[in-house]
Amino acid sequence: MTQILSGLVVAETRRAKLVEKVQSFISKSNRPPGLAVVLVGADPASQVYVRNKIKACEHVGIVSTHHRLPDTISQDELHTVIDTLNADSAVDGILVQLPLPKGLSETLATERILPSKDPDGLTSGNLGLLFAGRTRVAPCTPLGVMKIFEHYKIEVEGKSAVVVGRSNIVGKPMAQLLLEANATVTVAHSKTFDLKSVTSQADIVVVAAGRPQFMGKEFFKSGSIIADVGIHRLPDGAAGGGPNGKSKLCGDVLTSELMNHAQAITPVPGGVGPMTIQMLLENTLRLAELRA
Ligand code: NAD
Repeated sequence: MTQILSGLVVAETRRAKLVEKVQSFISKSNRPPGLAVVLVGADPASQVYVRNKIKACEHVGIVSTHHRLPDTISQDELHTVIDTLNADSAVDGILVQLPLPKGLSETLATERILPSKDPDGLTSGNLGLLFAGRTRVAPCTPLGVMKIFEHYKIEVEGKSAVVVGRSNIVGKPMAQLLLEANATVTVAHSKTFDLKSVTSQADIVVVAAGRPQFMGKEFFKSGSIIADVGIHRLPDGAAGGGPNGKSKLCGDVLTSELMNHAQAITPVPGGVGPMTIQMLLENTLRLAELRA
């Protein structure tokens, strides 16, 4: 029987503890932790993500401020907003919601955030610390995968792990976190010859390629642990879509083929996704504590 690794359950469990930790920070520091969320333009998906992050902050007692900027803003004007938040002592974390509208550099905007106020862990300062083995905060999604493994007592040490994808947001830091946990790590990517022969040897496979349901049973050895980071909305009526032609969320893995083949798998939805927001909240508190 394949075990379902529920990120929803892990996030809820950790959230209850986080509420207590935030209260304890408030009583010691006489102020709540603060997260500033910067949204440029009106991308509907980004608006939903920002709303969810603000709601999650409220739930645990982190004060969030929302900075909505028009998509006509220049790179310099965006940097001025970030500089103001960098200098604001009530702000512990600054999150610039990606993607930014065309014409704005995500790299420059991210780098403008002080690493000490970067709860996403995506500035080169924080990625550098992660790769040097002196982590301040690790990027939220791969950190969330590690916390799922920790919650379900999945042993990583000594195992062979393959990460599919090498982005700065997911793949690279995921590989580093697995390495730190003493796995033997391989990173596969779009130029990998014969992906199947690589992943089918692994005890643990983390998939973050951004391709809907492209990995079926033949990519995994029996008894493997699978974390599916991908998230896609299958269009109405697409093969594999929901009943009555309704759209449905799916990951990079064809989960239905893995039941009774994998030892454990994260579902989509309800797997890695809920952990990303939870890790953002935990990282914000960590930065607040470090500043205090
Ligand atoms: P990305 O496009 O930046 O990177 C994708 C990586 O996958 C690249 O390194 C590429 O080399 C590799 N790749 C692409 N096709 C491949 C193939 N056929 N075989 C092997 N490797 C291949 O994407 P990303 O930002 O890393 O995100 C990956 C996926 O994870 C997306 O579906 C994204 O929506 C999802 N995501 C989910 C969360 C979450 O909270 N659940 C967070 C971030 C990203």
